[in-house]
Amino acid sequence: MAQVKIYTTDFCPYCIKAKNILSSKEIEYEEVNIHGEAKLRDELEQLTGRRDVPQIFIDGKHIGDDDALEELVASGELDKIFGVEEKNDHAPESRNVIIIGSGPAGFSAALYAARASLKPLLITGGEIGGQLSTTADIENYPGFNGESSAELIQIMQAQAEHFGTEILFDTVTEVTFSQQPYRIKTYEPEFSAKSVIICTGASHRKLNVPGESEFAGRGVSYCSTCDGFFFQNRSVVVVGGGDTAVEETLFLTRFASEIYLVHRRDRLRASSILQERILNHEKVKFIWNSVVEEIQGNEKGVTAVRLKNVKTNEETLHPTEGVFIFIGHIPNTEIFKGQIELNEQGYIITDKRQHTSVPGVFAAGDVQDHIFRQAITSAGTGAAAAIEAEKYIAEIEHRAYPGR
Ligand code: FAD
Ligand code: NAP
Repeated sequence: MAQVKIYTTDFCPYCIKAKNILSSKEIEYEEVNIHGEAKLRDELEQLTGRRDVPQIFIDGKHIGDDDALEELVASGELDKIFGVEEKNDHAPESRNVIIIGSGPAGFSAALYAARASLKPLLITGGEIGGQLSTTADIENYPGFNGESSAELIQIMQAQAEHFGTEILFDTVTEVTFSQQPYRIKTYEPEFSAKSVIICTGASHRKLNVPGESEFAGRGVSYCSTCDGFFFQNRSVVVVGGGDTAVEETLFLTRFASEIYLVHRRDRLRASSILQERILNHEKVKFIWNSVVEEIQGNEKGVTAVRLKNVKTNEETLHPTEGVFIFIGHIPNTEIFKGQIELNEQGYIITDKRQHTSVPGVFAAGDVQDHIFRQAITSAGTGAAAAIEAEKYIAEIEHRAYPGR
């Protein structure tokens, strides 16, 4: 049996994703947690040239990060390496309701659907816990005041499971909503469902400038809780002016020697409470009215960003070893194109009861909300979608309660 070694840090959702992929295939692995271990961190950087985690080795060969592992799954290579037999325990199986996504919307929908005795199946996707898993703590979810967002997600998952939700660590690759029951394909075999609740949320937007993909993992990062430790006593740049950019900058102050926040306007979009915390922070300096035009580097990683002042068009080269990009999110709706109605920005169109353009298919959370995009609003719409799914199933089974 091939030997797997995986390098991780604390608070790293992509590490959890990689471990879950391996566990779901019953592949054993050795975990090396480098959090706080400067020597191990430097060794890993020397070995791979990477400044991000997870990094995965199979039989001593570096295969890359969680995305590389997911590609091995998608191509069937991982099964070949480990001689994993195709599982038939998830063969086309009929379900009442399938929930796609494991953020606050997905777990809330699962809780309500499970308590309605629908025995829901929740398919997690790669980012278990959703966007909250990429941040350290949360203080605006009622009942949670500055506590760990990972803990909030764990509680949500445990509560949904307690009432009968089945969790599948997999990713939906294709859906067919043209006939009942609806079909859902994952990397494992296919499912059918009377009702589907889409909670696939949103993923971070890229800058799309030269050097961004070339230096991803070698100085370019989208997750400070995962990769901040690689930038201990280094000068870094953060791009963006919203809540995420500010919150992640505050997290980076634990490690970096100084942080330059580059924002395209002359004031932050972030909420006032976060602005108060950052504007006079001794480690944070602001480069206003500026955009990153290019990320430069060498074989060791990022060395500089080329900035342009959007007011004067003046260009400057700013030396840095890290670029953290937090410029908003795009909805995860690629697999639903042509199946349900989306708006021009790609968000799923829902009515006030979370109905999409297809009867019995509901959507909740950030995937259908370009306005609020909060954990609490996502949880609320998740609950609403499950209540509507319960009604829909009762209707198609001719046991609806009159007047509801
Ligand atoms: P997401 O959290 O985006 O979850 C989407 C889920 O869908 C993921 O589990 C993903 O794996 C899954 N998925 C995607 N595609 C597929 C597929 N094809 N198959 C299966 N599954 C799939 N909000 C607050 O209220 N307070 C905060 O303090 C706060 N802090 C934040 C900090 C950061 C760094 C970020 C990025 C966001 C923060 N937010 C905060 C916003 C909040 O996290 C989101 O509003 C919320 O997570 C949205 O929940 P969701 O369930 O709709 O989607
Ligand atoms: P956001 O609010 O959409 O902000 C994105 C930021 O990136 C904006 O400042 C925007 O500039 C900038 N930007 C966008 N595209 C850019 C580009 N191509 N180049 C340079 N800059 C660009 O996104 P977010 O900060 O990720 O927040 C998303 C949602 O999550 C929000 O609803 C937020 O409230 C929520 N959230 C909440 C918390 C919290 O409550 N503690 C924490 C994190 C996130 P402009 O300002 O000029 O548009």
